[in-house]
This record gives sequence, structure tokens and C-alpha cells, in this order.
Amino acid sequence: MFLKKTTIKLKVPEDSPNSILVKNIYLSCDPYMRNLMSKSEGSYIDSYTLGSPITGYGVAKVVHSTHPNFNKGDLVWGITGWEEYSLIKSPETFFKIQHTDVPLSYYIGILGMPGATAYFGFYEVCSPKKGETVFVSAASGAVGQIVGQFAKLSGCYVVGSAGSKEKVDLLKNKFGFDDAFNYKEEPDLNVALKRYFRDGIDIYFENVGGKMLDAVLLNMKIRGRIAACGMISQYNLEQPEGVHNLFCLTTKRIRMEGFAVFDYYHNYSKFLEVVLPKIKEGKITYIEDITEGLESAPAALIGLFSGRNVGKQLVVVAHE
Ligand code: NAP
Repeated sequence: MFLKKTTIKLKVPEDSPNSILVKNIYLSCDPYMRNLMSKSEGSYIDSYTLGSPITGYGVAKVVHSTHPNFNKGDLVWGITGWEEYSLIKSPETFFKIQHTDVPLSYYIGILGMPGATAYFGFYEVCSPKKGETVFVSAASGAVGQIVGQFAKLSGCYVVGSAGSKEKVDLLKNKFGFDDAFNYKEEPDLNVALKRYFRDGIDIYFENVGGKMLDAVLLNMKIRGRIAACGMISQYNLEQPEGVHNLFCLTTKRIRMEGFAVFDYYHNYSKFLEVVLPKIKEGKITYIEDITEGLESAPAALIGLFSGRNVGKQLVVVAHE
């Protein structure tokens, strides 16, 4: 990636009706963006165009609008460009930010796409019940840290895996996981999971895929559920590793279901109604990893794939 400088008028061009021009405030670094940089079969979003600014979730302020639903000064979140100002030609997909008594950056984190992923993935795909056992991988990340807290609020026993001692400590001491382990220090993931789940796993919230998924399959309970949220360990590989223990789906009658958060956006207000009060009451907490400046954004994005981020990775582009 390189930075390109151009001059623009801070007005929607006359040939762009129903559009908004926004000033980007926060940009989000998300693992799915890596997939848009290669032509991968089966992807549900179009790949990036070489030479154009990449796109991603952001929080922004409307500078000028020719769309009847948006006014100058509105705060919004949605898919914007990795640039200081963006012209949004179909702003209908943007959400207006109504509650500003929480950090604005939360709208690309716990109150935005990752939060909705955790909420709908856990409650709708996993159908948790009190007393069930839950395992979350990439547990300290943007999505995982919230899933773990939802699991605790639902009366479940929850264990998370993460890639450093610092992250394991956060899981246990900040997010309230019952236990956690550093998967990088475990020579045998199957043995590690048996240590934390003597009687097996009811729910696996899958964020990483690969060897972890194989080990989890061996440890699932009969009629367990796996929410296939993502498989970050595979995104940088030329050839996916493959899964070896899939027959467990049959022998244990496991339901493994993939999902995409945008299929649930029509219920966003319901999600907000539940989660916003929990944040304000201190019942859910959220950790962000904040990088300053557009020029630092590529390194921040790349850092997701070596676990450099601690919590939700975001980039500050402008101060409000
Ligand atoms: P994140 O956890 O904030 O960041 C990625 C983390 O993944 C890193 O910090 C790292 O943590 C871990 N990681 C990186 N490479 C790994 C590897 N080879 N093996 C194991 N762990 C690895 O990211 P996120 O935004 O919460 O996303 C988590 C998952 O959810 C991703 O798979 C993403 O694609 C998926 N997702 C899906 C949806 C959907 O609609 N289905 C929506 C949002 C996100 P460690 O230090 O712990 O290794």
C-alpha cells in the first residue's frame, strides 16, 4: 500500500445524487480484509481493486449530503475508504450513531460489526443454555472477548485460547473467562482441551480453523454446536491445511454452521438495545488497540495475522 495525495472539494459532486461525503474518524482493521486481497473461490465479498483505496468499516462524520436521510454533522458507521474523506454513493447501508455517551470508536468494535458478530453468532447460531461448556479461539480479539463475556452472562463455563501470556491474563482477569491457555505453548492441542473440558465441549466459537478445529472436533460433546465465524489461521496460506476429524460431526451429531454478520444487520437495533445498557452498567468491558494515523494502518492490519494486536485493532484518522 502507498499513500496518495489529492485535492478534493468538501462537497458531494453534482452528478452524485443521494450521496454523502464523510470525514473518516476511525478505521477498523479486520481479518476478512486479507481475503479481499486475493482472488479466493467462495468469497462472499468482491476483492479489492488494485490501485484504488481499500475499503473497510469506519466511523465517520457527514460533511455534506445530497441524501434525504443524512445531514451535515451526522455521525455514522459503515463501509468507508482508507482515506481522510470518502464519497459514499450508497449510504443506505450506513448506520446513524444515536448514542454518543460511549466511546465513538465502539461503533467499529463492540457496538459495530465485531459486536454484532459475537452477539448473533453466539446467541442465534450456538443457542447457549445455562451450564453448558463453551470454548472460544482467538478469544482476546475483537469478537472473541465479547463472546466470552456473553457466555458468562448466560451462565456457561467458558475457556479461551490466545497467543500470549498477556492475552491469557486478560481473558481470566479482565473478561472473566473461567480459564484460558496459550495455544502457542501447547505441544498437543487435544491434550490441552481435555485438561479444560473433562466432559467435552458443548459450544465452540470458531475463529481460527486449522489444527485447533481438528483438536476441538475430538473434544466436542454429542449434539454440540460449532459456530464457524472465521478461520484466520488459513487466510495467509496458499493451500488451506484441510481438516482431518470431520467424521466427528457424524459420530457426535454435531451441528457446525457458518454465518455472516451482515445477514443479521436488520436486527441491529435489537442488538444495540441489549448490549448498550450492559456496557453502561459495566457488565461488559471492551479492550481496543489504537493506532494513530493512516500511514500506520497497513502495519496494524498486517499485525492481526501475527497476533500483534491486543483487543480490537483500530486506526485513528482524525480527531472529531
Ligand atoms: P482479532 O481476534 O481481533 O485479531 C485476529 C487474532 O487472530 C490475532 O490477534 C491472533 O490472536 C489470532 N491469530 C492470527 N493468526 C492466527 C493463527 N495462525 N492461528 C491462531 N490464531 C491466530 O480478529 P476478530 O476481528 O475478532 O476476528 C476473529 C475471527 O472472526 C476471524 O477469523 C474473522 O475472520 C472472523 N469474523 C467473522 C465474521 C463473520 O461475519 N462471520 C465477522 C467478523 C469476524 P492470538 O494472539 O490469540 O493468536
